[in-house]
Amino acid sequence: MKSCATLDKAYTSGTAPCNASCTGYGLTGCVKAPPVQSLTDALKVITEAQLKKDLTYIASDALAGRFPGRSGDQQARSYIESAFKSAGLSPAKGTSGFQQAFSWSSKSTANVVGVLPGTDANLKNEVIIVGGHHDHLGTSSDYGCSSKGGNTICNGADDNGTGTVAVMAVARALAKLKGQNRRTLVFMLFGAEEKGLVGSKYYAKSAPLYPLNKTVYMINIDMIGDSSTSVKALGASRSSLAKGWIASAAQASGVTASSTTSAGGGSDHYHFATSGVPYVFFHTGISACYHATCDTVEKIKYSGFTKITKLVARFMWKLSQEDKNPRTDFVSYTKLAPKSYLDWKYFSDHLDHGGVPID
Ligand SMILES: [Zn+2]
Repeated sequence: MKSCATLDKAYTSGTAPCNASCTGYGLTGCVKAPPVQSLTDALKVITEAQLKKDLTYIASDALAGRFPGRSGDQQARSYIESAFKSAGLSPAKGTSGFQQAFSWSSKSTANVVGVLPGTDANLKNEVIIVGGHHDHLGTSSDYGCSSKGGNTICNGADDNGTGTVAVMAVARALAKLKGQNRRTLVFMLFGAEEKGLVGSKYYAKSAPLYPLNKTVYMINIDMIGDSSTSVKALGASRSSLAKGWIASAAQASGVTASSTTSAGGGSDHYHFATSGVPYVFFHTGISACYHATCDTVEKIKYSGFTKITKLVARFMWKLSQEDKNPRTDFVSYTKLAPKSYLDWKYFSDHLDHGGVPID
């Protein structure tokens, strides 16, 4: 008998009957390993056409601005859930299907969560989260949605249709490498962000599905559709490891990433940051149609949006596979003076996003 792997590298387990020269015996009893995909191949599913297709649905008039608890919000969640399912993600323990229900102002909504369980004996209990919010502001009769350009619906294509479909695209790509990811990869789209980070606060402060002290990194994506060439990697400079990996992933993806120490508090990374989880907030800036009825699909800069989505996938894969992780060199939120959290002036324009004060 000889081990199958010795006879043919495509076989990973079992033993085959064999004579001295191992000829003429076949490979009875051998089990072939699944084909190993490369990251380069996996990334091929992230295309401009697919992002545009998903965004055209998520930001359509039919979803009426994805106001938390209304039917458009529910339709968006079902769409995300079926994307996660058909990509081959698993639901997280503690959710109903792929949804973690919570309520805001007596309305029911949910975070949508899909998982690729880690496979390395030592690292599989460590978790990387990529997330963003799926909700938006509703229509011009709702609080916060201003009329600009004739339409009455705040479609929220950039805010945060782009983050929503980017998370779905990264999930589809990395699911091609299922079984090869060493750490556990969690894809999480939050509800009711526009009402004060409600879904991400519920997850981080009330009902984490994975221990936060085992959550080695949180990637937040909120508005990445307004640049053809660059993205801000807010908060990334708190870990030199993360900052370096983002720079490499950006270069490989054909965009530039500018890292900062602080990210402000206006989006879903905030409650992870204050819980000691290392994070980055990817963002291309506040567009002219921010929180207005002209934030529509035709305004999106698709080539940059596609490159940034690939950057995120490459970075998340690196976080999954390296022995080291950014918890080892992260300068935590609490170690910086509260005021330095405000050190990037840009956020003076961004204070109201999500309705959360940032001091
Ligand atoms: Zn947003």
